Amino acid sequence: MTEQPHIALPTVNDQVPATGVKEWAFGARTLLDGFHRKMTILDREKEGVDLLMKRLSRLEFSIVSGTSEGSARGAFVEWVEENDAGGWAYYLAKKAEVEREQAEEQAKRRHEMIIASAREEAVNLRRKYPGGKGTAVGTVIVGLADTVTGKTYTGTSGAYAYADKQHAVMEELLAGVPEVESWPVNACAEVEAMNKLLIARKITKKSEIQAGTLYFHAETWNSRDGKWQARSACKNCDVWLKKIGACRI
Ligand SMILES: [Zn+2]
Repeated sequence: MTEQPHIALPTVNDQVPATGVKEWAFGARTLLDGFHRKMTILDREKEGVDLLMKRLSRLEFSIVSGTSEGSARGAFVEWVEENDAGGWAYYLAKKAEVEREQAEEQAKRRHEMIIASAREEAVNLRRKYPGGKGTAVGTVIVGLADTVTGKTYTGTSGAYAYADKQHAVMEELLAGVPEVESWPVNACAEVEAMNKLLIARKITKKSEIQAGTLYFHAETWNSRDGKWQARSACKNCDVWLKKIGACRI
């Protein structure tokens, strides 16, 4: 075995898997094909990509025809090292590009799922009260999703006043909020949910809350129709939600 230099760039041999070579070759060729179709004669990489795709195809074929995976792979690696005309670097760059896009897409989906969980939490909780508001629950039920931690919290109207702890930052957020609606500013379900989050995350000051990371969904009891329904913003809460850049869904 030859000794590796201290800072070694990955070799072609490192970049081709030791097993599942046929499947890998098919995947690499498919990836290249997607870009190759859009290439014209003016693309300087086109010829190199052409050659590499043919060689990948040959690699697949040789394994299908009975050549051992190890020797087919060895021949391919040798070919890239000696005869590649730029296709390999192109492949690596495009593979990284595709993987980056996939990771971004996955992060975006995760983010959307967390946001949606605010609604799910509120709906799950209000399902426990099919008879609507009463002694057990207030008029409004809220789900709160935190995209920083992925955690969710619930709150019900009227509960904050009876909470074990009223977080100092919650009190700070409510200070100076004008009572625009016909109920006290601390009576809302949003307040209880936010209080739980502040306690759980051990927040010490308002500035620790990043804008655009908290999502609230509210369900309210409609006495006239006798059912829970999604509710839009309460004007009291809007004031302090704005202070921390929280959103509603
Ligand atoms: Zn409110």
